[in-house]
Amino acid sequence: MGTLKDSYTSFLKDIEANIKNKEDLDYIKLRFSQFLDVVLDQMDYIMDYRKEEVEKLEKKQKELDEKMGKVENIVNHIEKDIYSEEGFDFEIICPYCDYEFVIDVDEDKTEIECPECGNTIELDWTGDLDEPQGCKRRLLLM
Ligand SMILES: [Zn+2]
Repeated sequence: MGTLKDSYTSFLKDIEANIKNKEDLDYIKLRFSQFLDVVLDQMDYIMDYRKEEVEKLEKKQKELDEKMGKVENIVNHIEKDIYSEEGFDFEIICPYCDYEFVIDVDEDKTEIECPECGNTIELDWTGDLDEPQGCKRRLLLM
């Protein structure tokens, strides 16, 4: 805007120096200031419009960010679901100390050491999953 003001000042100086008739000079000054008002109004309007556009874009960006956050949440949940379906975890309740812990299904393993009391717990993978033998193990549906 500084440039505009400088131009305006130099414009006034120029017409004052070149138009000798005072009536003509006042008339041109008046007309020019009316014209300038319109130009400045238009500039204000354009600036406001651009500000509005920027605000709209910022709002849209915010909405997109929120949507992305939701999508990320869903993806994380899906990953969790996939993991819990890939690995059947078994909850073991130690028959010696009642300590509960979870192991991955590994049918090659026939026994596991209780992390709490150190006793060896026999694993029976052939048992009916629906009716766990005496609470020794049960399928965890997570
Ligand atoms: Zn134990």
